[in-house]
Amino acid sequence: MDYPGKVALTLFTSSCNFDCAYCHNSELKKRVKEELGESEVFDYLDKRGKLLDAVVITGGEPTLRASELLPFMRRLKSRFPETLLKIDTNGWNADILQEFLKIVDYVAIDLKSLHYEIFSPVNLREIEDSIEIAKGFANHEIRITMFPPYLPEDDFEELSKICGGASLVSVQQYKPVAGLCETPPYPSSVLKRFADLISDHAQKVIIRE
Ligand code: SF4
Repeated sequence: MDYPGKVALTLFTSSCNFDCAYCHNSELKKRVKEELGESEVFDYLDKRGKLLDAVVITGGEPTLRASELLPFMRRLKSRFPETLLKIDTNGWNADILQEFLKIVDYVAIDLKSLHYEIFSPVNLREIEDSIEIAKGFANHEIRITMFPPYLPEDDFEELSKICGGASLVSVQQYKPVAGLCETPPYPSSVLKRFADLISDHAQKVIIRE
């Protein structure tokens, strides 16, 4: 799932500048001490690299750690040139995203809402800039997590237009977090209706439940 169609090693970075109510990696919102260093990742790829197609870097928000990650990813590509690299991002900064797109083979960018001010320090316009840049990259995916308070049904039409021209959009069911975020999810029929709207604008839409 992390890299469509590929067997991937997924690395999690800590720190995030958003505060999504449904976050499933909330322990990674703050910066924590790394549990793995570069040499451990490279040793792992030396031993198991033949079984893996790709390395996925996710978080938290990985692009916040650009000064460390970009050199790490360049070294990884130089040492394991056959390994595909993917970055997941919340899309907060288009300029930094462009730096990552010089190295990666695949980008997944979130579209969370029309109302970013509720849970983030950025606004929709900044996210749209990042999404447009991602759409210009050969292998991209827009991911939409169907959290009802961030995605009211009245917004579906406008959100679907933001996906215009995307090669892949994944509509992902939101999973409640016990004790933290217990809003009931949308029924499958609502996800299907939204996916149908998006398919008028994007090349391919998948639903992940
Ligand atoms: S952007 Fe991702 S990691 Fe950050 S708070 Fe939201 S769901 Fe969690």
